[in-house]
Amino acid sequence: MTSADLAEPVTGVLTLRVSEVVRETADAVSIVLNAPELRYLPGQFLTLRIPGGGARCYSLASSPYTGEPPRVTVKKVPGGAGSGWVCEEIRAGDVLECLPPAGTFTPASLDEDVLLLAGGSGITPCLSIARSVLAAGTGTVTLVYANRDQDSVIFRDALWGLAEEHPGRFAVVHWLEILQGLPTRQALAALLAPYATRTAYLCGPQPLMDGAEDVLREAGATAVHRERYFSLSGDVFDMPTPASASASASASASASAGSSVTVTAELYGQTHQAAGDEHTPLLDALLAAGVPAPYSCREGACAACTCRVVEGAVTLRHNEVLDAEDLAEGYTLACQALPTTGRVRVEY
Ligand SMILES: Cc1cc2nc3c(=O)[nH]c(=O)nc-3n(C[C@H](O)[C@H](O)[C@H](O)COP(=O)(O)OP(=O)(O)OC[C@H]3O[C@@H](n4cnc5c(N)ncnc54)[C@H](O)[C@@H]3O)c2cc1C
Repeated sequence: MTSADLAEPVTGVLTLRVSEVVRETADAVSIVLNAPELRYLPGQFLTLRIPGGGARCYSLASSPYTGEPPRVTVKKVPGGAGSGWVCEEIRAGDVLECLPPAGTFTPASLDEDVLLLAGGSGITPCLSIARSVLAAGTGTVTLVYANRDQDSVIFRDALWGLAEEHPGRFAVVHWLEILQGLPTRQALAALLAPYATRTAYLCGPQPLMDGAEDVLREAGATAVHRERYFSLSGDVFDMPTPASASASASASASASAGSSVTVTAELYGQTHQAAGDEHTPLLDALLAAGVPAPYSCREGACAACTCRVVEGAVTLRHNEVLDAEDLAEGYTLACQALPTTGRVRVEY
């Protein structure tokens, strides 16, 4: 199976049945889904509708290459609406509504050696990547995993199992705050710098990722990817769907009367065209034309709609995820990208 097979377009809201709820630690559970047809890439996430309004993103901890059922793993945040519901209320047999798998925190190749750095629940996409590289690729995986104490280590046994199964290809280094304190920059440099030539994937608290990225870059790293956890502020399930967007987008297009723009998108091997204008983000123009363009937060914060501008130009209204390197390479966020030329062509 290639990554192209796994990333086939799925649109609209999915309804997935929970087959099992697994307690991983005192404050983390895995929700196993009965969804053998779900296609996703290692490290991608699902956006779940939470009761009472709103949505939350949760990374898949499973690998699409191992035949295991898809699972998300959620750590309870004190007072948290979404994680509280997942950890306390979801039961086997429940049906969840979610958006199709999305996200760009995924390896370009499973044959490359990778460095993974996870903190707490940041292990979920890292485990998916590790399992995928080990099962379907030839790369070597080093995981540095920081936690408060031994009891808060999610997937402790699974990680031991991987190390036993793949000696020489998988190594995990645990960092326990209760024993070692918070990892200092010096400690991070000692742990991570030897792997600076590898592609690095970081997922954990912001200060941990900042420190890790700094020491890796100082050691010469050029490929450092981050997955930033945050709670969506809007309700993506209440926004226009591709079908219903059509009418409102054309209404807003005529109301705004901006200069017309032709948007062309290369998506999943197909070329699509949409009419837009300078006030309409690329994503809205594509959805209005019925194009199954990926998205999740629609706030410029999650990177699910990342694409590359190969013709024309855009300006970003808001961007919390793409860095200067990404922008220089032409990457943009379709949900926030306003065309500044009459023709814009993007590739997903
Ligand atoms: C791409 C992505 C992947 C993710 N993957 C995972 C994953 O695999 N596992 C995982 O556990 N999480 C993951 N997350 C994080 C997850 O989406 C949620 O952000 C997390 O579960 C917290 O949501 P919550 O609804 O429980 O908390 P929220 O309700 O968002 O609250 C968060 C905190 O803020 C406080 N708070 C809320 N409202 C207020 C207020 N009005 N005033 C003051 N304080 C307030 C709460 O008490 C709580 O402490 C991911 C996020 C993203 C973007």
